[in-house]
Amino acid sequence: MVTEKAYAKINLYLDISGKREDGYHDVVSVMQTVDWYDLIEMEINVSGETNVEVNSAFVPAGNDNIAYRAAKIFLEAADAKVGFSIKLKKNIPVAAGMAGGSADAAAVLRAANRLLDFSLSTEHLLTLAAKVGADVPFCLLGGTRIARGIGEKLEEVQDCPDCFIVCAKLGDGVSTPEAYRVLDEKYNEFITYHWHREKLELLLDGLTAQQVVRVCDGMYNVFEESVPAMRPDVERLKRIFSEHGGVAMMSGSGPSVFAVFQNSIMAEKACTKARLLGAEARVCRPITAL
Ligand code: ATP
Repeated sequence: MVTEKAYAKINLYLDISGKREDGYHDVVSVMQTVDWYDLIEMEINVSGETNVEVNSAFVPAGNDNIAYRAAKIFLEAADAKVGFSIKLKKNIPVAAGMAGGSADAAAVLRAANRLLDFSLSTEHLLTLAAKVGADVPFCLLGGTRIARGIGEKLEEVQDCPDCFIVCAKLGDGVSTPEAYRVLDEKYNEFITYHWHREKLELLLDGLTAQQVVRVCDGMYNVFEESVPAMRPDVERLKRIFSEHGGVAMMSGSGPSVFAVFQNSIMAEKACTKARLLGAEARVCRPITAL
């Protein structure tokens, strides 16, 4: 049996550079792995069956779990005649914009490769990851990276300087298609939209200089234009974090909010306050490539 950690991500930067003919949006994003993780226990099932057990009522077990899809795609590519028994312990908030499902799928690919003697190369795993979902290639590699296309084209950048990142989710999840729909309406399908290139430059300069303040200056999320109006809890969390001295922003299409602090005591206080409101919250640290 192997155990694998499935780490959540936040988006330090997220904008849309256009809409494609197939209806997907091209994104420009800086993704960051944080140390909030689900645990995957996985073993070979010689009967050839693959099954997924989950300890959460909010996530489907069995064939509908993204972990199952990842396992199936791996087994087919490796031409393996076995199955996997997968146990998933969820900790990452669900439908929050922290890529919990994608992280689980990526962890299953890593664990499967360990169980089957590293039969597939990292390049091959990345191709499989992209078939499972847009955020899965990033979750496979982790660290700090720019993602383009639908999220699958990755470019390595300087690691995020160490800091304290409070991540929190309050209230119901957000439907990502709905969040995109609101933006499409607001920005006329992104036909003449100018994405915030200057903010990205600021962020990348901050990473190169390893200065947390400059990284914060470059943080941006286009979904803050649509989601907080649907989820007042986003603004509530952001206000609490700002009052404690953090630089706060929504992650992905929300509703999770993260805030960057240089001071651990203030980060802990902000986290406690968020929990008192009923949020799932945690003080995280950025982690480097897996
Ligand atoms: P992203 O940041 O990539 O948009 P997310 O954090 O918004 O993802 P997830 O937590 O991955 O969203 O969950 C999205 C949906 O996927 C859930 O509503 C859930 O029903 C379904 N799902 C299937 N498998 C899983 C899994 N292993 N973990 C979480 N959700 C899963």
